[in-house]
Amino acid sequence: MSHSHAMALLAFIIAGAVAGVFYGWYAGEAAMSIGWLGSLFLNALKMTIIPLVIASVISGIGSLGDIRQLGKMGGYTLVYYLSTTAIAVFIGLLVVNWIQPGIGIQLSQTEVPEHILSKQDTGISDIVLSLISPNLVTAASQTELLPLIVFAIIFAMALTTIGDKSKPVFAVFDGINEAMMKLVIWIMHFAPIGIFALIAARLGSAGGGEQFMAEITAVGLHVVTVLTGLLIHAIVLLLILFFIANRGIDYLLGMARALVTSFGTASSSATLPLTMECARENQVNPKAVKFVLPLGATINMDGTALYEAAAVLFIAQAYGIELSLMQQGIVFITATLAAIGAAGIPEAGLVTMVIVLTAVGLPLEGIALLLAVDWFLDRFRTTVNVWGDSVGAAVIDRLT
Ligand code: ASP
Repeated sequence: MSHSHAMALLAFIIAGAVAGVFYGWYAGEAAMSIGWLGSLFLNALKMTIIPLVIASVISGIGSLGDIRQLGKMGGYTLVYYLSTTAIAVFIGLLVVNWIQPGIGIQLSQTEVPEHILSKQDTGISDIVLSLISPNLVTAASQTELLPLIVFAIIFAMALTTIGDKSKPVFAVFDGINEAMMKLVIWIMHFAPIGIFALIAARLGSAGGGEQFMAEITAVGLHVVTVLTGLLIHAIVLLLILFFIANRGIDYLLGMARALVTSFGTASSSATLPLTMECARENQVNPKAVKFVLPLGATINMDGTALYEAAAVLFIAQAYGIELSLMQQGIVFITATLAAIGAAGIPEAGLVTMVIVLTAVGLPLEGIALLLAVDWFLDRFRTTVNVWGDSVGAAVIDRLT
């Protein structure tokens, strides 16, 4: 896609998002009637994910030539993901200790849904177990990307050991990858309408602008705390982009179509096809695009990590429970793991938060305080998640 074409599309997508906010705000529940247009766009994106992820990871590893390259790239990728996630949690802890949003908050009587509480017994072993699926078809049908990526990596590694016989196989996956990227470009043209409808319908289902404002004010400074933390982290990532990846602000502009889409969909996985296409247009080496981004969409969630830490401390403050430095250290570690374990789908972070709350012995009912505004904050943290992956692709491109 040419630069001017991409910028025009970006303008339309932003206009769609803004119009969606206005329509949902004023029309309220009536805006839900256009929700199907949003679902249509979302479904089209999701349709591409499974073939795209499998083909891109396999063809990406095929293009590395030497399997030792994979070790180097994988190593850098994991170090980048872990360190930026840790920075995010740290920022989350800082802002929540500074603003103290939970003090004086009215405890909520709302019930926490069962599917959230059921995560209670999740431990580190479950996160490791989720790497391998006994049934790839089931994993694909539930869009569980991590086991599919692990399979694709192992499969591609096996291919590199069988000599000439691997060539046609790599060529097939390469072709599939190229065709999928074409499809993504076509779908991208529906983003303005899709995002308009997604945002309008979601705001509408929250009862429109007035009701939404009332819900936000009920949790007071919690929203301010999370948004401040996310903004600081987004700027930290921008600095990493400038000084480590050596890229300019045009990289951010080039990624903006994916970023606004992540805001509209609240899903890093659904946005992944667009993230990959935008990074490609931004001249990121295809090897980094094909390997770093799919992995990032599943395990690298800076926004989610920051949110988990900030929200858990918010709950502690609301219940008047003081967390020692040691306990905050436990929050630090478990929030990082919970973000890695969270799927790239809407409000997944709320579910894995149970792991963090359990680790420091806080009441799980505290989640009820967050329910009403979670969908809203989810959009911002997902945008930061996708921004973290995008910067990661540029960094790994530079370092390898
Ligand atoms: N919705 C987020 C994502 O897809 C995950 C979360 O709930 O924090 O990246």
